[in-house]
Amino acid sequence: MLKGKTAVVTGSTSGIGLAIAKGLAGEGCNIVLNGFGDAGEIEKLRAGIEAEHGVKVAYNAADLTKGSECAALIKFAEDTFGSVDVLVNNAGVQHVAPIEEFPADKWDLIIALNLSAAFHATRAAVPGMKARKWGRIINTASAHALVASPFKSAYVAAKHGIAGLTKTVALETATFGITCNAICPGYVWTPLVEKQIPDTAKARGMTEEQVKHDVILAAQPTKEFITVEEVAALAVFLASDAARSITGSMQQIDGGWVAE
Ligand code: NAD
Repeated sequence: MLKGKTAVVTGSTSGIGLAIAKGLAGEGCNIVLNGFGDAGEIEKLRAGIEAEHGVKVAYNAADLTKGSECAALIKFAEDTFGSVDVLVNNAGVQHVAPIEEFPADKWDLIIALNLSAAFHATRAAVPGMKARKWGRIINTASAHALVASPFKSAYVAAKHGIAGLTKTVALETATFGITCNAICPGYVWTPLVEKQIPDTAKARGMTEEQVKHDVILAAQPTKEFITVEEVAALAVFLASDAARSITGSMQQIDGGWVAE
């Protein structure tokens, strides 16, 4: 379906981004992986996706908290594979603390990575997409793009910002064969969720087990975590030609969370 096209998936050495990269590779797309981690492990992932799906996979270690590195990542993909047809702005981090104790450096980091990086990468990728009259921009937002939770001020602000960016880019690119959509997952079991459990327990005065059941799964009417494969399947659909009229949308995949 996407044979010969190239996808850049930010934050794809782990979790949702890795599953999306694998899903797009399964459709024949060449992939640029990005994110942090052990060099040997990343090479195993890269070579494994190439071998399993018969596509080309390159890795770029750009630190996306820096605007210049976001633009350089897009240029790397264009120089390596000739185009960026699918851009998945997915890299993100979390920090959980009450507003009056929220570290200012964590605020700056989360806004830079979870919001500004998507701006810088999109800005760099859109000219090529417009010239080729085809493009798919998929932003991994969150249920927190639509509703808030306490103690996540920076994350909720960044994700609400991503919703606005998604709609604006969709309007600007609508006549160029380009779509721009946001995926809004509820809780997906990944290192990002696992790592926030101790701080949430501290902020709410609960045990970690209580946080998992009474805070995290309590938010989701299904009482189940969403899987990374389910999120990847939605991204693959948004990248398909069948989804060409879906643009500017917030795609909820949250076990019913924001319906409440
Ligand atoms: P994760 O921790 O498994 O993956 C995060 C990825 O981002 C990793 O590859 C990491 O190396 C990369 N990364 C971190 N800092 C970076 C930087 N400075 N530059 C480049 N890459 C960097 O987390 P995840 O749960 O897969 O999260 C992926 C996205 O999904 C995030 O935007 C997150 O907000 C969003 N999301 C996650 C959930 C969830 O429940 N897990 C729910 C809604 C939205």
